[in-house]
Amino acid sequence: MKRRHFLQGSLASLALAGLPLYWFNRWDYLTIHHSAGASGDLALLRRVHRQRQAGDPVNEVPYHFLVGNGEGIETGAVVPSERWSLRLWGAHVSARNPDRNFRSIGICLIGNFQNAAPSADQYDATIALCRDLMRRFDIAAERVTLHGETPGEATLCPGKLFPRSEFFKDIGRT
Ligand SMILES: [Zn+2]
Repeated sequence: MKRRHFLQGSLASLALAGLPLYWFNRWDYLTIHHSAGASGDLALLRRVHRQRQAGDPVNEVPYHFLVGNGEGIETGAVVPSERWSLRLWGAHVSARNPDRNFRSIGICLIGNFQNAAPSADQYDATIALCRDLMRRFDIAAERVTLHGETPGEATLCPGKLFPRSEFFKDIGRT
């Protein structure tokens, strides 16, 4: 009986010790988005999130990182959201994809790439961010997807002018 309690206690502490490790390292995908607006920052995207995803209990932008275009956030600057600070799940893909929202890092480039392509500086910063996250969390290039090509998603995001073949080449996806 004693031994059993000891075992149960050990298992419980192992689980408790393992949980933060899992929480901070569970990332297995990257998903690329555009904000679909010409300008934006955390405050603006928070307001949009409150309007469009009113049922979300997390009062933060749906993404983990924003990459600026000089309109609200400096060009090429990477701004982590509170979701990333706490390693909270995202709300950047549809509810049909709960695993992607839980284990995919959502990266949103400010801009509407249906109208104009990202600048070289914004694009380069995105590549650097993707490579850094892929290295840190050992994420395979095949698991880095654009929102619209993610299985189960139906959207033009991140826009027809996002340089997709260049992007796939630059992150090493074949
Ligand atoms: Zn998107």
